Amino acid sequence: MSPEDDLTQTLLETVRERDPEQPTFYQAAEEVLHSVVPFVASTSAYRENAILSRLLEPDRVISFRVSWEDDHGGVHVNRGYRVQWTNALGPYKGGLRFHPTVNLDVLKFLGFEQTFKNSLTGLPMGGAKGGADFDPKGRSEREIMRFCQSFMTELYRHMGEDTDVPAGDIGVGPREIGFLFGHYTRLANHWSGSMTGKALSYGGSEGRVVATGYGCVRFCQNMLQHVGQSLEGKRVVVSGAGNVALHAARRAMDSGATVVSLSDSGGCLHAPTGFTPEQWEWIRALKEERYGRLAEAPEALSGLEYKPGATPWDLPCEVALPCATQNELDAPAARALIAGGVKVVCEGANMPTSREALHLFQEQRVTIGPGKAANAGGVATSGLEQTQNSQRESWSKERVLERMDAIMDAIHAKCVRYGEDGDGRVDYVRGANLAGFLRVADALLAYGIR
Ligand code: NDP
Repeated sequence: MSPEDDLTQTLLETVRERDPEQPTFYQAAEEVLHSVVPFVASTSAYRENAILSRLLEPDRVISFRVSWEDDHGGVHVNRGYRVQWTNALGPYKGGLRFHPTVNLDVLKFLGFEQTFKNSLTGLPMGGAKGGADFDPKGRSEREIMRFCQSFMTELYRHMGEDTDVPAGDIGVGPREIGFLFGHYTRLANHWSGSMTGKALSYGGSEGRVVATGYGCVRFCQNMLQHVGQSLEGKRVVVSGAGNVALHAARRAMDSGATVVSLSDSGGCLHAPTGFTPEQWEWIRALKEERYGRLAEAPEALSGLEYKPGATPWDLPCEVALPCATQNELDAPAARALIAGGVKVVCEGANMPTSREALHLFQEQRVTIGPGKAANAGGVATSGLEQTQNSQRESWSKERVLERMDAIMDAIHAKCVRYGEDGDGRVDYVRGANLAGFLRVADALLAYGIR
């Protein structure tokens, strides 16, 4: 066994022994170590200061009970968390997820990934993630409000503009941020930029709603441009129908691509000749304003088909944008995409590609834009929201999105710098992991052992 493999195995064994029931975190750790260990093994300062062992353990994990009352007087108890991974580069920063699948394993994977992503943006942001195993689906607005208020009653004491700045994620959109931040200002008795993703009327940033999806497409365009191509005329499949998916689909359409799918946990919405801007706008309003389901679309819009239980992966395409959730794209899905002609997979979601699917894509030379680089536009714009809040300023949408695009271009350039193979191809997974790691690692070295 080479010294690199030895170090990787030792680190992974420690992860598994400490938390045998955290396979998703293990998967994220394995992917990062695979890229980073060869570099660390040859750099004595990182090795001797156990930088990797320290990065594999969060600064702290906060877990708390969230009790709340439904509209009929029933009392419910959920579990809330905040995983504060590291504040080496700035205040803890990362979203909150409300979904029944939330547990410590999922939030540790997300907090770990967030640390490298935030580092890649070049902005002063540490890494964190939080949430609860609460399912907002089917709950009334008042129930969601009461849940958010109960959740914040504990979380607020761990937050602050220079301490920890949460944002949204799956199940936490502008409505939930409003309830959470509203309760925060009441409990803390002060207004500050302690949350991002806020609405424009109370300190939000122009462009934040579209930022993750737009940034993902910008990254994809950079990947294509690097090999002399563009999105124009390409067939694109998008999974998900939430914040990231909708706006990724829109920017891809605006860039001349034919977007043939959206999806949700119930099935796939197929547009054989591509969504039109009018159809997209109807679907956006359905999801963002009426909190409806994709299955309702074909009744109102002709030419679309909703297939219950289906995913977009067996539709022929050149580009795939997985924008729903982790491990949504497994080995059979990867085989179907490869058979359908996919050349580029650019991840809008966090770790949507399973380990086996990743290996299949790498074998077949399908280029992967990993989520920690490709979906960093959201947190980058959150960083810009923090800047505007502390300056008591509001920038125009053009100014924000121009900055966001520039950050995405810089992330792409870092991935190329650290991921370029001898034959001129770019391993974006390695490039993103290594570039993200170096900034945090150097800060940890500078701070001494802590
Ligand atoms: P939303 O809650 O807005 O949307 C999530 C979408 O994914 C919904 O359409 C949902 O369908 C679908 N989905 C969720 N779970 C599953 C599942 N198990 N199987 C199939 N579909 C599923 O979330 P976001 O768009 O904000 O987040 C999507 C992804 O992007 C996540 O991985 C998130 O961590 C990542 N991300 C988000 C950022 C942001 O700024 N919002 C920033 C960076 C990353 P349904 O309604 O049926 O559940």
